[in-house]
Formats: sequence, structure tokens, C-alpha cells
Amino acid sequence: MKSLFIVLAFLVITSASFFKPSHKCTKSELRMSADIVTYFDSFIADSKKYNFEYDHAYCLDWIKFGHSHKIQGITDLCDGTIQINDRLAKDSIGMKFVIYHELGHWFGLNHSTGIMKENYNESDTELVKENWDKLVKNYFNKLKSIQNGGV
Ligand SMILES: [Zn+2]
Repeated sequence: MKSLFIVLAFLVITSASFFKPSHKCTKSELRMSADIVTYFDSFIADSKKYNFEYDHAYCLDWIKFGHSHKIQGITDLCDGTIQINDRLAKDSIGMKFVIYHELGHWFGLNHSTGIMKENYNESDTELVKENWDKLVKNYFNKLKSIQNGGV
């Protein structure tokens, strides 16, 4: 019983330290491709709307475009980089979806449904567009749940 408590305490401490970096990250430290800023700002605005503590987003080093045939976006948790497929630059819905998705990974979300579904492809655009508000609400519920120590 005692060892179980220690394990639990350790888990709580590690997850808490994950979300509370030792120094407060500021926007000036985060590099971003110019075309990505609008979507990132939209994430921050939605974070405020849903009362989500978003400071950890500023601890990213770089959100940039990359080129890939298959991958729409990728998050490197160690380097603090998010790469967005440059093909998405022409698809504002896809861009928004993939940037929110990758930021979800940065905050610790795994693949599930909605914005955290594993693959985004162009055929999803209409559905994403029609349901965006609902998708965002659901996404922030997941984010807030892990931030509050849930799973
Ligand atoms: Zn993913």
C-alpha cells in the first residue's frame, strides 16, 4: 500500500512538472513561420475562451513548415518543434486542424477522436468546417482534463 502511494505521488509530481515548466515561457522565445501565426493565435484565443492554461505552448522552440508526402504534421516533444506539411498552406481548414492537433500532442494528448484523430485528409474538410465549434469544445475538454491530472 505504501509503495503504491509512492508510485502515485511520483506520477502526480511528474505530470505536474510537465505542465509547469521551471521558467515561464514567453511568446518571444517561440519561432513561427509567418503563415502559421494566425492559426496559433486562434489556438490562444480559444484557450482563453475555454479557460485553458496555454503558457506551455510558448515553450515550443519552433512551429514551422516541412515537406512530406505522407505526414500532415509532426511534433517533436524533445526538441519542442512542430512541423506542418507545407501542402496545407493552401488549405486553411486543414492547417487549423493540424496545428491544433499537433499542439494537442505538445500538451500531452494522444490520438483519439475529433481533432486528435490520427489522420487528416482533404476529404475531412467539409465535416471539420461544419463541426468546428463542437470539435474545439471537445478538444479543450480533453486538454483541460489532462491538465487537471486526469487521463
Ligand atoms: Zn497525431
